[in-house]
Amino acid sequence: MIRRFIDKLFGGKPKRGPRVLPLEAHGIQRERIHPCALKTARALREAGYGAYVVGGAVRDLLLGREPKDFDVATDATPEQVRQVIRRSRLIGRRFQIVHVYCGADIIEVTTYRAASPAGDDDDESRVTAEDGMLLRDNVFGDQRDDAARRDFTVNALYYDPESQEILDWHGGVEDAGKRLLRMIGDPTTRFREDPVRMLRAARFAAKLDFHIDPATRAPIAELASMLERIPTARLFDEMMKLLLSGHAERGVHQLRAEGLHHGILPMLDAILDDPARQKFLHAALRDTDERVRHGHSASPAFMLACLLWFDMRAEWRRNQETSRSEQAALYDAMDAVLERQRDSLAFPRRFDGTIKEIWALQSRFEQRAGARPHRLLAHPRFRAGYDFLLIRARGGDAPTELADWWARFPNADEAERKAMQAELAGESTGKSPRKRRRRRRKPEDGGGGAEVD
Ligand code: ATP
Ligand code: MG
Repeated sequence: MIRRFIDKLFGGKPKRGPRVLPLEAHGIQRERIHPCALKTARALREAGYGAYVVGGAVRDLLLGREPKDFDVATDATPEQVRQVIRRSRLIGRRFQIVHVYCGADIIEVTTYRAASPAGDDDDESRVTAEDGMLLRDNVFGDQRDDAARRDFTVNALYYDPESQEILDWHGGVEDAGKRLLRMIGDPTTRFREDPVRMLRAARFAAKLDFHIDPATRAPIAELASMLERIPTARLFDEMMKLLLSGHAERGVHQLRAEGLHHGILPMLDAILDDPARQKFLHAALRDTDERVRHGHSASPAFMLACLLWFDMRAEWRRNQETSRSEQAALYDAMDAVLERQRDSLAFPRRFDGTIKEIWALQSRFEQRAGARPHRLLAHPRFRAGYDFLLIRARGGDAPTELADWWARFPNADEAERKAMQAELAGESTGKSPRKRRRRRRKPEDGGGGAEVD
């Protein structure tokens, strides 16, 4: 309480020094730090500079999690870092950071920054260096300044790889113990400085299984619309971080609970208001989370294909009434849905091809006679298409039998494949193609029904 009052008085900057926690108090052994981060910090220290591991890595280790990446903060300027470490590169135009290369791994080295009173650029804005709005002239500061311009208390911990101590400027260790996500300084001011911090709050709460401190949470509802002013490219990056973090299911719920999805996942209202779509979305998110947690890749295109599937299919169904051909109905629907989304959610066009292929493959999975399934197996996107089919089956949007059949077919030898096809032919004797088509359309009617307005 008192600390918070002091924080407010000094704009988030504590007057006193940091709380210093020895190894016994936090238990993070030096060995847990990436060797490249250790090497980088050592080189900088030997050259007479200060160097600490900071940010998400310290937070994650403290929580017993495997860090995604390691960042180092230093009082050396980017040029000085470059001089000390040869295998490194300056990144970013106006706010420069240094990438240090160790094989395939990259360590990010940032120079302590002063918290700018007018607003704070953020670490991602370096990546989207084009959007001038987010980048400001950089003013270097000391560690105290650097800690104050970070977003949440658990993200402002500095690990000294030599003494194995943690320097905690804002009570982050205590908050981590309480599983509390708390903004440094005055939440309203900090969210106004950079509205993307609201999305980060939702993402970290989901990823870390933290609750958002009530004072931090309070202004979000009112400020949520400020996200409209954020360049869409940055929003897209942030959305993908949330969706591909391995905690998408919780993340999406957190977004909606905070009313933050309007600007970032506008289709979410329609999805969550319709039980069929909701079931499908949950199957998609759960599946993606599992993949990521098992170290597999999950692609933005796949995720987008999931999010827009029902919209596309409703449009497709409408087109079928008037279109010259089945093919034209499908392709016009895909184009229309992707174009419409681009108004609110600017996702790069480079994903369109994959999204369309995943969608277009779906009806081909139903054609299992003759040479067709063999041709489908050879399709370069077969795997993604099949994964999508699996999610549809789990989400009640495709017959489980179909997904099971396709799980077996690729691994079966020629004789088995023939038998599988013969079995289907036997089953379907007497069924006219029209009947089959009607069966196929059934889930579309279910999903699309809520769609027509
Ligand atoms: P993760 O990488 O696991 O998603 P992280 O905490 O490392 O989490 P990054 O986006 O990599 O997040 O940023 C590294 C650090 O930079 C953060 O821990 C935080 O201290 C600071 N930071 C990043 N973005 C912002 C922002 N928008 N405002 C203030 N500080 C930020
Ligand atoms: Mg990080």
